[in-house]
Amino acid sequence: MNDFIDVLIVGSGISGLRAALEASKYSDNVKIISKLPVMRSHSVSAAGGINSVSVSHDSLNSFIADTIKGSDYLADQDAVSILVNHTTEEIKYLESIGVNFDKSDKAYSANKLGGAEFSRALNSSSQIGLSIMQRLYEEVKRNDIQILENWHVLDLIHKDGTCYGLIAFNKDHNKIKAFFSSIVILATGPAGHIYSNTTNSTNCTGDGVAIAYRAGAYLKDMEFVQFHPTSLIGSNILITERARSAGAYLFNKNGERFMTKYAPSSLELAPRDIVSRSIINEINDGFGLKDSKYDDYIELSFTHLSDSVLNEK
Ligand SMILES: Cc1cc2nc3c(=O)[nH]c(=O)nc-3n(C[C@H](O)[C@H](O)[C@H](O)COP(=O)(O)OP(=O)(O)OC[C@H]3O[C@@H](n4cnc5c(N)ncnc54)[C@H](O)[C@@H]3O)c2cc1C
Repeated sequence: MNDFIDVLIVGSGISGLRAALEASKYSDNVKIISKLPVMRSHSVSAAGGINSVSVSHDSLNSFIADTIKGSDYLADQDAVSILVNHTTEEIKYLESIGVNFDKSDKAYSANKLGGAEFSRALNSSSQIGLSIMQRLYEEVKRNDIQILENWHVLDLIHKDGTCYGLIAFNKDHNKIKAFFSSIVILATGPAGHIYSNTTNSTNCTGDGVAIAYRAGAYLKDMEFVQFHPTSLIGSNILITERARSAGAYLFNKNGERFMTKYAPSSLELAPRDIVSRSIINEINDGFGLKDSKYDDYIELSFTHLSDSVLNEK
């Protein structure tokens, strides 16, 4: 069967491209299938940074501890450990394929983001997602990994607990086709658009979770959805956490810096779930600002920051 594929990856965001490059070390018959053109994957929007131990007084153990603490001790600690222990080599890999991380005097310039004891978030001219996507995409092309774009995967082909491939709909030609593969990897991104308020793009509809569920997979931890605390009212375009890292304050309608109440030491840089919950608490308690067109909101203020901080950040 000529069409048989060794490894078929659904999704061409950072996860899908990276998985394809890794799989291509073991097979020259790896393909990516995606409902979008590569550079429209949501990964291009990531702007806050990618965490890695980069300052001398930081350590992998501290990174692991912050991550577990930030999860209210609910995270799978083995998974956290694997994630953190691979970051240094992954940053080196990304550099090796051409991602330019911001540096000052040859040392990484890292920002301190929410829930982190040390500055860890590396960036690339404020466009970390775009930068990584561009380099991974180039690398995928250089390795001759075929990308099938505009194919919307509908379901897996499976029998008795074994997956044999998938069924997909081609949006350009209105046709449905079966793809057969020994290994299918779902890298279909987030599901933010099942909620009315989200900073995810409209393509983030949780398809992979639904596809796996329909095929009989067990789902776990479905309640762990991160809501980014700050976005533009109306459009929900994300205001990156670097704004709070640079010193922006959150105020309620009485001009109170309410994070002093919820997280007295970390304030606006508490983990995102704490900041998001605090904002919603303030609004639900009647302390939100009013707008004639939109729901009540909270103010993110930069007015106390100097021009040089604003320009630099
Ligand atoms: C605004 C914003 C900013 C962020 N900033 C940061 C940050 O600074 N640092 C950080 O670490 N994280 C950040 N995140 C989170 C991070 O961007 C995501 O976790 C990551 O990009 C997800 O990558 P992905 O490859 O899993 O998904 P995506 O990039 O969303 O890719 C999903 C892929 O799956 C494909 N797909 C989906 N369904 C189907 C289907 N049915 N059939 C075929 N293909 C399908 C899509 O076409 C797409 O190619 C941010 C998230 C948001 C929303």
